[in-house]
Amino acid sequence: MAIILDGKALSEKMMAELKNRVDALRAKGKTIGLSVILVGENPASQVYVRNKGKACEALGIRGDTILLPEQTTQEELEALIIKLNRDDGVDGILVQLPLPKHLDETKALRLIVPEKDVDGFHIENAGKLFTGQEGVAACTPKGILAMLKAWNVPLSGKEAVVIGRSNIVGKPVAMLLLNENCTVTICHSRTADLAAHTRRADILVAAVGKPRFVTADMVKPGAAVVDVGINRVDGKVVGDVDFESVEKVAGYISPVPGGVGKMTICMLMENVIEAAEKKVC
Ligand code: NAD
Repeated sequence: MAIILDGKALSEKMMAELKNRVDALRAKGKTIGLSVILVGENPASQVYVRNKGKACEALGIRGDTILLPEQTTQEELEALIIKLNRDDGVDGILVQLPLPKHLDETKALRLIVPEKDVDGFHIENAGKLFTGQEGVAACTPKGILAMLKAWNVPLSGKEAVVIGRSNIVGKPVAMLLLNENCTVTICHSRTADLAAHTRRADILVAAVGKPRFVTADMVKPGAAVVDVGINRVDGKVVGDVDFESVEKVAGYISPVPGGVGKMTICMLMENVIEAAEKKVC
């Protein structure tokens, strides 16, 4: 049976450490603020935003959620981002994705000043990650790496296979693994013979968005399998990995829920605290 990469337990431990950093900043008279912009009424986004608010509250970070109506214009959204960029009390700005279809996501994200881009989606931060410079790394990829490291999963020289090439998960996690000296393969919807790739993987990251997509026959015995997927099936949240069959083959496996999702929020909090710390120094 695989060792469980318990994101819930790890994130609780990390949150306690983060609380100390918040307290240290507060002792210097610095308060920390995160502004989350939510446009429209996407139910999944509402849950994510609520969870981010709860994490802020637990750490003593001021978390403002700014709710904008579905019909918000690009100009209105941009004006708000500019206002928050200039607001000294705001250390981090997060635009909850996806935005309603009529809004230009790329343009909105680019407008956030890179220092306050706590999601790590700004082109400057993405570029820094790709060129090995210090910047803000995207929260989910950063959380995946933190989890692998916490369980001492060997990375250097190992084969890592990432299924998914999105800008928010697949590509940045591939870069982080490359920076750890893994030999990285990125698979996607046009990959021929996916299982031939995944069966070589010492580290397999599934970020597909398809319930129970990765099955035991696709996994190398002893591999570390990280499940990023959040899929709702019959009112239940399931990952991209068929946990029941894969846990019998894998060496390590992250559960859903209680895996990567918990780490993502924890890394967001870390990015906000880091932004505030940089301002103080
Ligand atoms: P996305 O839809 O942008 O990307 C999915 C990727 O899967 C694409 O690159 C596509 O090429 C690939 N893909 C689709 N079908 C495939 C197939 N048959 N074979 C191989 N590759 C295939 O999704 P995303 O934003 O990267 O998110 C992926 C999943 O992770 C979703 O379930 C999402 O909800 C979840 N997610 C979780 C967290 C978290 O904190 N746990 C954060 C972000 C996303």
